[in-house]
Amino acid sequence: MRVIKLSKENLFPFLEVISEKTGLWAPVRKPNSGHVFKEIDDFAQIDLDYTRTILPPKKIFLPPSFNMFKASKNNYEEDFSHVSPKILFGIHPCDIHGLLIMDRFYSYVFDDPYYSKARDNTLILGHSCWPDENCLCKSTNTHIVEEGYDLFFTDLKDSYLVWIGSSKGDDLIRVKAELFDENIAEKDIQNFIQWREERDEAFQTEINFSAMPDLMELKYNDTLWEKLGDACLACGSCTNVCPTCNCYNVHDKPALGEDSSQIVRCWDACTLENYSEVAGGENFRKKRSDRLKLWYTHKLQAYISKYGKPSCVGCGRCIATCPVDINVKTVAHTLDGDKVDSFWNRFHEEVRK
Ligand code: SF4
Ligand code: SF4
Repeated sequence: MRVIKLSKENLFPFLEVISEKTGLWAPVRKPNSGHVFKEIDDFAQIDLDYTRTILPPKKIFLPPSFNMFKASKNNYEEDFSHVSPKILFGIHPCDIHGLLIMDRFYSYVFDDPYYSKARDNTLILGHSCWPDENCLCKSTNTHIVEEGYDLFFTDLKDSYLVWIGSSKGDDLIRVKAELFDENIAEKDIQNFIQWREERDEAFQTEINFSAMPDLMELKYNDTLWEKLGDACLACGSCTNVCPTCNCYNVHDKPALGEDSSQIVRCWDACTLENYSEVAGGENFRKKRSDRLKLWYTHKLQAYISKYGKPSCVGCGRCIATCPVDINVKTVAHTLDGDKVDSFWNRFHEEVRK
């Protein structure tokens, strides 16, 4: 891996050149709601002063709903119209880790061509960030990233240190090499060390993830789950905003009177009531408490047992999103010894006011 330097005023000229023939996606502020990743048609729209986008970048690789096949009476044809060459700029370390988890999931037994083609066609240009009170990525060790990007820009106020993470990233630099400085001075290194130390100290929330698999097991039948289930609205928002949630559903979209119909794939959520419904109407997780337990078993136990780390990358989106304060922070803290009623009281006192 090589590190070079880019002065701040050279960022947009660089992005302009590399995006001449490729769609550039970057964070943009949406009035009255938050930031979103969006295809850029005006560089002034890019806003790098953000903590998290509303939806994670998974929407760029697998849109919430897209057509998989066009089917006719005797034939079917795969549809990859959601895939096009893209540059994704401004993605934070936690979301890059989220993509690495997605990579593993979508190639675990079979390669998922709808994901892998989109992934192969997208260059990842990461950007450093600063935590707010909901960022948990230091606890998940996803606040720094050493793989999964083509270029990574660390913001040191007047300039960027640019980490080259792949040969494709190196090719990008060569398109406009004169904008970059190969010489990293001792002052730059000291600035980077100071930035890292100050950022590490800025994290306000900590979770002991290594204790979670045992606590999930020990508290599998705890009344906590019934209380959470009573409060949960089964809206599915926590799943939609989570960068590592990957379940989907497939349904036919018949076109009556036409020669062909579509087979559509859309995001699904294990917190929704019909998620575990099977033919004949049986539902194995009709209770909201059971569905929440499944979600948290996946985040806090099963993935850790298999891969030694949680499938939570600490982005904080479930904390910012759940309308009744059920999220990885409140659940983990409750499992780890917070008074069980703390969540329940908060629900009654604050949410139902
Ligand atoms: S569980 Fe919550 S904090 Fe963790 S990755 Fe998912 S949305 Fe982000
Ligand atoms: S935990 Fe919160 S965000 Fe998730 S389904 Fe329940 S109410 Fe919705």
